[in-house]
Amino acid sequence: MSYNKMENIVNLCKRRGIIFPSSEIYGGIGSTWDYGPVGVLLKNNVKAAWWKAVVQERDDMVGLDAAILMAPQVWEASGHVSSFNDPMVDCKKCKHRFRADHLVESMAKDEDGAARTTEELKSLELAVAAMACPDCGGELTPMKQFNLMFKTHMGPVEESAAVTYFRPETAQGIFVNFKNVQMATRKKVPFGIAQIGKSFRNEITPGNFIFRTREFEQMEIEFFTRPEEAQQWHEYWLNERFNWYVNLGIKKENLRLRPHDCDELAHYAKGCSDVEYLFPIGWSELEGIANRADYDLNQHIKFSGKDLSYFDEATNERFVPWVIEPSGGVDRGLLAFLCDAYEEIEGGRGEAGAESEVVLRLHPRLAPYKAAVLPLSKKEHLASVAQDLYKDLRKGFSVDYDEARSIGRRYRRQDEVGTPWCITVDFDSLEDQAATIRDRDTMEQVRIPMANIKRWIQDKLDAS
Ligand code: ATP
Repeated sequence: MSYNKMENIVNLCKRRGIIFPSSEIYGGIGSTWDYGPVGVLLKNNVKAAWWKAVVQERDDMVGLDAAILMAPQVWEASGHVSSFNDPMVDCKKCKHRFRADHLVESMAKDEDGAARTTEELKSLELAVAAMACPDCGGELTPMKQFNLMFKTHMGPVEESAAVTYFRPETAQGIFVNFKNVQMATRKKVPFGIAQIGKSFRNEITPGNFIFRTREFEQMEIEFFTRPEEAQQWHEYWLNERFNWYVNLGIKKENLRLRPHDCDELAHYAKGCSDVEYLFPIGWSELEGIANRADYDLNQHIKFSGKDLSYFDEATNERFVPWVIEPSGGVDRGLLAFLCDAYEEIEGGRGEAGAESEVVLRLHPRLAPYKAAVLPLSKKEHLASVAQDLYKDLRKGFSVDYDEARSIGRRYRRQDEVGTPWCITVDFDSLEDQAATIRDRDTMEQVRIPMANIKRWIQDKLDAS
């Protein structure tokens, strides 16, 4: 049997309102996706879980929500204008476009978007020159550098003075606000600033569903430390971020930390490791965790002429903090959670008489709906009891309500979107004021007084 897991996940996402191709009625644009009614709940839960772990439950982290459009000088200072490039080649025959470094797999990628050395570029160029188009065998153009930033114009005049960029990362919004945040919160180094937001990259070859898109969301932390403590904080954040994925249900055997080789590092970086996940397309980056030293703050000091140093009252020292940057993608993380949770059961589980069933074994905290209320019959007296329960539960959590078709089919529909608990209100409920809760994973059923169900779900979530 041919089995393409990614394709099946894409189909499930479309069918169940998790993710749709963007602008689909116009044929789509191939590099952006829209989150549907179920997907937006899942995405919000991923972001909330991150925020809770890195901001809410810590004393040494504060949040920020900076603007997408920033002063163009920011991108001069950060190096993005001069070196946020990917090497690109076109096929002269079929016109397909490729990233040269993806074509030449033996060549290491530059993970931080910093300028490649001349030798690196030369060897890439030579390797590409010896290759033919992998799609049609046609001749390839010479390699060109392609800047990944989306340009736009600020204001009503389209002149070069008004050029600005859609941010290609959220990080710079944090660096330029370092002083503002530190003064406003009186946080002492070591402390961090966390931010979730949209970023835009004009990727040469977007693809693999939401793995690589041109518009995506990032969850980024800049953690400011004393220079001599940076190494130890780097190790701390590697563990912390790895465990975040594990705690939210990703199987340990599908995750690994991959330290970058020296030639992959940006020239200023003191070290970088990626958290990688075993996607259906193979091991790929989920999140990068870099020790960026004092590069970014120093660049902004240089370009803005403003003092962004920090005065340590305890030691009477002034210094430019070093930075540890855990930088993950919301969409890429969500794809990993989907892939890890997705299970197809040949022959089904017996409840719906189906040949094959999908169970999305999402962690309950990520599950779009925590529960679904399913009256056994549409009959009015039963439905009204079920409706009362549903309306009470949804004050606390996202809950679905479904009274259409057989109970087996309704369980199946909830399994497909990862609802951990299905609550069946039956005719006995009218007598005993209790309902049956069925567990998504074990299919075990327990009978609970309806008045206690909200508490029961909350306890389960707290313990998960
Ligand atoms: P890649 O090598 O895959 O292009 P990168 O090393 O350039 O990624 P970073 O600049 O380190 O990525 O960005 C941090 C995180 O943001 C990545 O680990 C990924 O989760 C996410 N991300 C980056 N680019 C994209 C994209 N085009 N689409 C979706 N997520 C992305």
